[in-house]
Amino acid sequence: MFEGKWEKRWHPLREEWVVYAAHRNSRPWTTGTHAAAPKEIPAYDPGCYLCPGNARIHGVRNPDYRDVYIFDNDHPVVGMHAPDVPEEGRLTGHGLYRREKAAGIARVVCYDPRHHVTLADVPAAQVARVFGAWRDQMREFLAQPAIRYALIFENKGALSGVSNPHPHCQIYATDFVFRHAEGHLAAARRYREATGGNLFGQIIRNELEDGRRIVAENGGAVAFIPFFARYAYEVMIFPRNRHATLATMNDAELHDLAALFREVIRRYDALFGISFPYVMTVQQAPVDGADYPDYHLHLSLLPPLRQPGLIKYLAGPEIGGGNFMADTMPEDKAAELKGDRRREEGRPEEA
Ligand SMILES: [Zn+2]
Repeated sequence: MFEGKWEKRWHPLREEWVVYAAHRNSRPWTTGTHAAAPKEIPAYDPGCYLCPGNARIHGVRNPDYRDVYIFDNDHPVVGMHAPDVPEEGRLTGHGLYRREKAAGIARVVCYDPRHHVTLADVPAAQVARVFGAWRDQMREFLAQPAIRYALIFENKGALSGVSNPHPHCQIYATDFVFRHAEGHLAAARRYREATGGNLFGQIIRNELEDGRRIVAENGGAVAFIPFFARYAYEVMIFPRNRHATLATMNDAELHDLAALFREVIRRYDALFGISFPYVMTVQQAPVDGADYPDYHLHLSLLPPLRQPGLIKYLAGPEIGGGNFMADTMPEDKAAELKGDRRREEGRPEEA
């Protein structure tokens, strides 16, 4: 009786099992029932360090920007001016403990001058301008020998750990490659050695062939909850044409990717009746000068909610053990997201 609701699935990119025990979570919920009432957020907040014209921490004042605005983070987690670690202190603990300078570039990307909008509220052309700004950044990092990887990420909503609602994301450009990219590349290499095929391309073909988990698609991009999703509403968005990083995408491809991203996050908001929190990353190949013909860039959306008002807490199995236990089935969640349950009323007018 639990068929299709209780099983484990192999995650081919992470090369690990995900356990699904959806029979424990079968109670239906009513859309929006537990959603908190949205707080009234002003278009301009004099206390916000991201709003145009406001002073930031070290006294720098933001320009009166009208479009996408990018600046170096005032509290950088990585920086070219981080303290040097002297040569003799780099290797201790009998050669086991290593330390090095936390070198890199940390940037903040403000999507829009207005404090109260999200990328779900603005026209697709504005979302495409944000993606275009990311592409410019990637091209800059590709030209910098000290930078080997660039992680573009947005933590959206208080549930995802961001306290300032001003629409923005961050970029950490580092002299090391982030673990997910390393893992994806290793998995893709092993898959090519075993089958001769491309791992990402096979995942995209599998999802299109099955169709049940496709959430939305357009001419240049496809969005789905993968067969092996760890989070209930986890969505991957791939450009149909393979690119290792955003740097090589043309305007039409970028516009389609941006438009589909916007479509997915609008579906999130409509389904839950709230500005839906998520962690979004642009998963790309390293920018260290090597070619990465196996890599197929994609957007990864990891929402912390598994039901309205109900957070998926990472606990013993996930944090302690390292494998995910999911309470929902990807097919069911994709059906919700693609279903025509959209509630457009109450959404701010497009500007
Ligand atoms: Zn603001």
